[in-house]
Amino acid sequence: MIAIQVLEQSVVVFSKNYLPISKINVRRAIQLLIAGKAEALNLTQESWLVRSPSIVLVVPAYIRLTVASVERIWKIPPVNRREVLRRDNYTCQYCGSHKHLTLDHVIPVSRGGLHTWDNVVTACERCNQRKSDRTPIEASMPLHTQPKAPMHPTVAFAEQFWRAEPFPPEIGGTSKHNAETNIS
Ligand SMILES: [Zn+2]
Repeated sequence: MIAIQVLEQSVVVFSKNYLPISKINVRRAIQLLIAGKAEALNLTQESWLVRSPSIVLVVPAYIRLTVASVERIWKIPPVNRREVLRRDNYTCQYCGSHKHLTLDHVIPVSRGGLHTWDNVVTACERCNQRKSDRTPIEASMPLHTQPKAPMHPTVAFAEQFWRAEPFPPEIGGTSKHNAETNIS
């Protein structure tokens, strides 16, 4: 692999408190390591070898910040068309269509349903009309996923990280379990 490609490979950053918070490229990781703002986290033997004419650097695949990271301010977005469609990946939650999308109240407003993240889903016009003012059970139209409010980006990253990382059992067994317990 040539150097420039290595520099674009990703390194997972953990917070000072050992929570996976983001992915950055090797170039940025080197900057943090050299500045003393991060240290190697030896979860696995995985690492990137970076050579320049004068030095050879081993950049670990996981680093941990040695300084406290500033928590980004984040609010749960409002329940509107743009945000709901984004959460549902622009997919009708009843039939999977990507066309003529509207918003549907799972429990219809006329039946006391609220305009909240757990009661509003993306639905195509056809499904919306077919379902009408019935609940999914009454209409025999099960939802693809149970709607819920979008997660804080950091929590979402951590959840996705623990699900995707192929750690060996002796690390993965306990870490995975703990991480899931902490964020749920
Ligand atoms: Zn549909």
